[in-house]
Amino acid sequence: MSDTRILIRNGHVIDTEPDPVVLPRTDVLIEGGKIAAVGPGLPSDGATVLDATDRIVLPGFVDAHRHVWQSALRGAAVGTDLGGYFRLLGQSGPKFRPQDVYIATLAGALECLDSGITTQLDYSHIAYSPEHADAAIDALHAAGLRAVFGYGTPITATDGNLADVHRVRTERLADDNALVTMAYAPLGPSFAPIGTVAEEWRMADDLHLLVTFHVAATPVSAQPVFALRDAGLLRERTLYIHGNTIGDDELKLIADSGATAATTPGAEAMLGNKAPVAGRLRRAGVTTGLGVDAVSAAPGDMFSVMRAALLGSQIADDSPLTAADILRMATLDGAAALGLADRTGSLRPGKQADVILLRLDDINMLTAERDPIAAVVTAAQPHNVDTVLVAGQIVKAAGRLVHADLGQAAEALRATSATIAGL
Ligand SMILES: [Zn+2]
Repeated sequence: MSDTRILIRNGHVIDTEPDPVVLPRTDVLIEGGKIAAVGPGLPSDGATVLDATDRIVLPGFVDAHRHVWQSALRGAAVGTDLGGYFRLLGQSGPKFRPQDVYIATLAGALECLDSGITTQLDYSHIAYSPEHADAAIDALHAAGLRAVFGYGTPITATDGNLADVHRVRTERLADDNALVTMAYAPLGPSFAPIGTVAEEWRMADDLHLLVTFHVAATPVSAQPVFALRDAGLLRERTLYIHGNTIGDDELKLIADSGATAATTPGAEAMLGNKAPVAGRLRRAGVTTGLGVDAVSAAPGDMFSVMRAALLGSQIADDSPLTAADILRMATLDGAAALGLADRTGSLRPGKQADVILLRLDDINMLTAERDPIAAVVTAAQPHNVDTVLVAGQIVKAAGRLVHADLGQAAEALRATSATIAGL
């Protein structure tokens, strides 16, 4: 929270609520870390002025599903399938010490900010001990982005470490209005017996936590959403990930239960999750965000993810999603999927000032003012991200992260990666 006033002046503003719209030559006024006003010719009295004349101004991206710790395993699962990916996690994950989780999560979170992701859900299935969980939370705090720490179950574990989830919720992440909040990220009905799921769901209810998990037709459950229904375990505040291999009737059940979803089209394509699911989720009426998922297998920025979603829908859907649909998924719908639409995902006054500025005067963005929404979704790249604000705090300016020692983080991440690979 900041008491300072910041005026972002004369930008090509894209707001995303209720649907993406371009506001040419428009100002954004920030007060006390929140959006105060959006409009032309706003007063600059006492404000720090950011000239946005050659900038697209839009809400920061929301990455609704990411295993941030995999920044130390970049590219390691490219060229394999889901079985190979699981083997990588099973072999590498147990080698991570708490200090490795810390630096991998910090570096991954800084990568998010650098590319314009201001909010992410960290599905942290590297919590081999309470110290591992604490290291990930410490790193998210240090990175300075808005994050939901998803307390995950390691792939080699058999249960969800209920006692430590309770500790973290009550002792570390009790405040649901903080910059770093909490979710529960268990194996779920596709990978764990329904009795285990029931126990974990009860705990999530008791702790008032969002539950998020990967959902697919698997040998454990061919119809995992029906399995939840039959056990009386459908709930709101539930974020389903993927869903490519389950039927439209199960997607409809997700929508009817008031739950949400996220698709990670880059990782889904690379790891054999089959056909794109974004269009099917939309037709079923499920509020759906986008996610990077795993940089061991897929690109780590939302521009690449938006492109994958757009191209996948062109191939898979009779009425493909539009660029505006995709941008909304990457911002407002992602925030809604995480239960954070009251504070981020658009430029509506009163929301937290999570805002990014993209350069229109970079060579790949010249003339993009003709259709900034199309350009953001089809042309923009992480290097176009000039300025990033989180809750009104400037964390990137003039194309450089300003609040973190990137050289130190890079050195530590390389050391961790070498240690993991060498063990
Ligand atoms: Zn995942």
